[in-house]
Amino acid sequence: MGLPELEVKQTIALLCLAAPALGQDDVPSAPIATTIRLDVRTAPLIDLWFSLRADEEPPPYDAPGRELRSAAVRAIDVLEREVGSPLALGLVEGYLPGATDGAELVAAFAQLPEVRVMAGPRGNRRVELRRLATDAGRTLVAYEEVWRSEVWPAREAELARKVELLTLTFASERTHPALLHALSALGLRRTESDLLLPVYLTLDMPWPGAVTHRVPGGAASFVATSDAEGSLLPEIVLHEALHQVDAAFEGPSLLSSLREALAAAGARRNDQAALPHLLLFVAAADATRARIAPEHVDYGEARGVYDRSGPHAAEVLEAWRAHRAGELTRRQLVAEVVTIATGAPPR
Ligand SMILES: [Zn+2]
Repeated sequence: MGLPELEVKQTIALLCLAAPALGQDDVPSAPIATTIRLDVRTAPLIDLWFSLRADEEPPPYDAPGRELRSAAVRAIDVLEREVGSPLALGLVEGYLPGATDGAELVAAFAQLPEVRVMAGPRGNRRVELRRLATDAGRTLVAYEEVWRSEVWPAREAELARKVELLTLTFASERTHPALLHALSALGLRRTESDLLLPVYLTLDMPWPGAVTHRVPGGAASFVATSDAEGSLLPEIVLHEALHQVDAAFEGPSLLSSLREALAAAGARRNDQAALPHLLLFVAAADATRARIAPEHVDYGEARGVYDRSGPHAAEVLEAWRAHRAGELTRRQLVAEVVTIATGAPPR
């Protein structure tokens, strides 16, 4: 059985934040030269939060602040289970970039709705979002001091090395070449305002190891580094950055055209979400190979994402390659993907 329909809807809403809609008579203004840059960074509170979420085993006996850490892991685990999915947790994690410490995070959680109705496999559930998040935040605060003095310094040094390496990997004055490559491939290049794309590196994170959430004033990505060897890490960073641009993008893009065409043709809901996402995957992989590491193997291949992207993934990837080789225009690619997904040419 696939994902329940409501769950998929929620996932799409969180991953593909609504771009501002143009009014009926609005004509997109001419593109102007804009700067789109990745801002790879790290923050102790964010690393702490995701490291607590990633803990599955009780901490070792000699771990600093063991009991406090266990309590925080349990409280965050309760929150995560109640909310129901790592993506839906964005409702809470969207407040992480704006807070410098746990106390500020707990204060920000006061803005959460008291009760949120969450869709799940067994119907809608009422989740006491503010109370659960505040409980989790308070246990984090109780452990934070030990963590900052005894655990964070070594992690900070390791993360600083990765931030430096990635910043060098993507370096360019105005727009990072690998990012530009992927943006052009997806038709996401023309934005009307500058975009700075924050990407927070953490050492650990539970599945899927990287996520992009809506945050006040925009979006932010969170990427775990410990399980991403070699050129997989820059591909993952690019992938998440593409989600941010896709969310902020004002005009039609390959992704928005494909979403509209799949919906109009009545494609299965899973395909409506998975196939544009598949193109985002392969565009990030292609850009990594073209601009960063010629021997790069796609994350989708290395980690089996392509195999898990539904029955049409192989054919869609083939159509993508034909498009990139100049054998299919963008419009033809969209039509081809719709035909593959629905078994009939689009009307
Ligand atoms: Zn994604």
